[in-house]
Amino acid sequence: MNNAVPISRCQRWVVKIGSALLTNDGKGLAVDAIDDWVAQIADLRQAGREVLLVSSGAVAEGITRLGWTQRPHALHELQAAAAIGQMGLVQAYESRFQKFGLHTAQVLLTHEDLSHRQRYLNARSTLRTLLDLGVIPIVNENDTVTTDEIRLGDNDTLAALVANLVEADVLVLLTDQQGLLDGDPRSNPSARLVPEALAGDPALEKMAASSAGALGRGGMLTKVRAAARAARSGTVTLIASGHEPAVLQRLAADERLGTCLRPSSGAVAARKQWLAGHLRVRGRLLLDEGAVKVLRGAGSSLLPVGVTRVEGEFVRGDLVVCVAPGGEEVARGLVNYNADESSKIIGQPSSRIEELLGYVDETELIHRDNLVLTD
Ligand code: GLU
Repeated sequence: MNNAVPISRCQRWVVKIGSALLTNDGKGLAVDAIDDWVAQIADLRQAGREVLLVSSGAVAEGITRLGWTQRPHALHELQAAAAIGQMGLVQAYESRFQKFGLHTAQVLLTHEDLSHRQRYLNARSTLRTLLDLGVIPIVNENDTVTTDEIRLGDNDTLAALVANLVEADVLVLLTDQQGLLDGDPRSNPSARLVPEALAGDPALEKMAASSAGALGRGGMLTKVRAAARAARSGTVTLIASGHEPAVLQRLAADERLGTCLRPSSGAVAARKQWLAGHLRVRGRLLLDEGAVKVLRGAGSSLLPVGVTRVEGEFVRGDLVVCVAPGGEEVARGLVNYNADESSKIIGQPSSRIEELLGYVDETELIHRDNLVLTD
């Protein structure tokens, strides 16, 4: 999205809420707090916005369910508590969202899932489908297999990766502070809130490192870094206090709360950088004139019917270039089918994919969201 676009016009939101804002001091879920978050999110949804919630709270709920009086130190016990508590967490959300006529979906992810191309595409299409269905995905780290949040308090990075995945317009990182301060208020009483800055500005990391709680779990530093990551998909990050009443509605109404970190380039440029910078080209798809025209003209997805030849060895999720009959590169993108499958379906209408392969992953060979035109 363009820098000038106001938050009220943002359609797709990722909202990250940490344990501190959902639990009674780490002991069980705070039901009143959850009621309030659900009401706020349902309100955004009913105003036509899409919302993905990244929520912690599983460990705290697990500890309560087990009757433990304090948080254990052993990682495996924390992981077990998370597995138990996750049940309570999703129950709490599902039953409350139901009152608003909304379904929820549990999505447990790891950073590794999202750096693996094939899993990235799978996670992406699941989340997109959930949003299309009007469901609220409830995302948490998969604590059984990774422990970044348990050890580092870092669901901020996961939230930024989710924002990249769905190309969210806005990422809201809720915290117990007002936002990013330009100094440590404990040693510098004149430290001020930074209302707005460019995500990725190196000066922000310095400020975050000195701001209170920086060394704590899920500190400001991880938030500032998460904002830089989110900016890669053109996502604006808002760091705001979860203690502000109706914080989500107020942000959605363009009230200036907390810190707004905007990407320096628009979504398309950011996506292009991401595609250009992160992956190696594995193959080539030769297009017919018709396909070149619709890609360039209408910004459409690439369908198998418009492809005349497949070159290279690639798997689902690999980066391939799309070449015009004259040989010039038209676009590049992440392909939905491997080289073998692609060869079988090219030149054919998408309605025949199932008959030709025995299954259908996607009707497009490359979805337009995973495709960038080469200038
Ligand atoms: N992902 C975990 C949770 O949802 C980690 C939070 C923690 O370590 O307390 O509870």
